[in-house]
Amino acid sequence: MKPQRAVLLLRISDDKSGDAAGVGRQEEDGRRLAHRLGWGIAHVIVENDTSAFKRRKIRLPDGTTALRTVRPGFRRGLDLLASGEADGLLAYDLDRVARDPRDLEDLIDVVESRTPRIPVESVSGSLRLANDADVTMARVMVAVANKASRDTARRVSRKHEQLAEQGRPGGGGIRAFGYERDGVTIRESEAEVVRWMAQAVLDGQSLNAIARELAARGVSTVRGGKWNIRSVWSTLTGPKIAGLRRFRGEIVGKATWPAILDMDTWEQVRQRISERALGTSNKMVRWLTGSLWCPLCQGRLTGNSVTSTRRNVGPIYWCSTERGGCGKISVRASHAEGEVERRLLDYLERPEVFQALVSAASGDSMEQVRAEVAEDEQQLKDLARMWATKQITLGEYSEARRIIDQRIKDARMYLVASAPRLLRSLLAGDVRAGWAEMEPVDRRDVLAAVIPDGFWVYPAEKRRVFDPNRIRLRQLPEA
Ligand SMILES: [Zn+2]
Repeated sequence: MKPQRAVLLLRISDDKSGDAAGVGRQEEDGRRLAHRLGWGIAHVIVENDTSAFKRRKIRLPDGTTALRTVRPGFRRGLDLLASGEADGLLAYDLDRVARDPRDLEDLIDVVESRTPRIPVESVSGSLRLANDADVTMARVMVAVANKASRDTARRVSRKHEQLAEQGRPGGGGIRAFGYERDGVTIRESEAEVVRWMAQAVLDGQSLNAIARELAARGVSTVRGGKWNIRSVWSTLTGPKIAGLRRFRGEIVGKATWPAILDMDTWEQVRQRISERALGTSNKMVRWLTGSLWCPLCQGRLTGNSVTSTRRNVGPIYWCSTERGGCGKISVRASHAEGEVERRLLDYLERPEVFQALVSAASGDSMEQVRAEVAEDEQQLKDLARMWATKQITLGEYSEARRIIDQRIKDARMYLVASAPRLLRSLLAGDVRAGWAEMEPVDRRDVLAAVIPDGFWVYPAEKRRVFDPNRIRLRQLPEA
């Protein structure tokens, strides 16, 4: 089937170059190509004056923020493809579609979400995602283009760098809490709140409790909104209130503005917040308990902080002989937890996963997800029949099956995940900040909801270095 409701994506990287006429030419070329291919164009999206490589914090639909390239048109294109409103993508050039690897990955995810893949074409012929080789090639090209863009960005931001060196405020953006709009004058009413927040942390209050109390007191953020874990966290851990200048994420020196907290207090507050995040100040529960499995004897690993039988390696998970396990598998708790946490958070932060989870958690799309699962399951049966009657090859069958299986698994996950209250509250705020604040017991429940099958822990091949590949997603054997 040739796409009849394709998206034509046009982009000019910078309006200042006076290339607006270029868009007209792009559209003409695009339509000509569509005609030649026999495609129908249903949506023309023009992105003006946005940069495909500059990342900014953008607001996700649920109100949290994430670092993404600012490309509303591109995002809308993806949404149209994902929802099925559009059935193909036609762009001028790969360069104009995805200059940031993350954008490309999002596009690949959408393209691969259908069987067969959603067709993608470009006038210059550089964008093809029809098979794995194309996808690999696209990744390489985008990685190269991304580097070139970053080099340019570096030159452009000279001016900001200079301001930073001098410790002056960068200007632009929203006002910092505790300071006036000029960035250097303290707003005393807010500075008092900051000092109170810092003291509350040192007194052992959680960021969540602080946010609640601020709400109760009727204190609002600079945007006039309600405080949450994320805003409390960023206000207290950011160097601004300690009178330090940050540039590209690094503290570059003393700022020209006065501090609200002295360095000692600020350091203590940060220390306390990160301790809480690591769980070292709470009684520790090993939150991977129940989610790690031994591939040798199929038993569950047990979290263990008593290390009497071993040399001092700290807490471990192991296939406990006391509980009938084989005793052959063990892994340092810090290694396993670090790795699973990284994967879980990366996964939850993928925009499509995040959005699907949020909408699933919001309730009424549940029926739709159930219907989709049923449909996918039917499609699997049809495919199996087609293979059995030799209408498709084994390769085609397994490829299609892999994709549909994944889709079913994802959808099932949403159904499960929508239940726990914890996951909903995690998704309602900044995922990383929320996770950092979470008690181990709650982390365990979230993990169990999102990845119910858990992970295998394979034997270590090297003694000293932890190999992340030891931790592998556990797939249940076929029923
Ligand atoms: Zn075992």
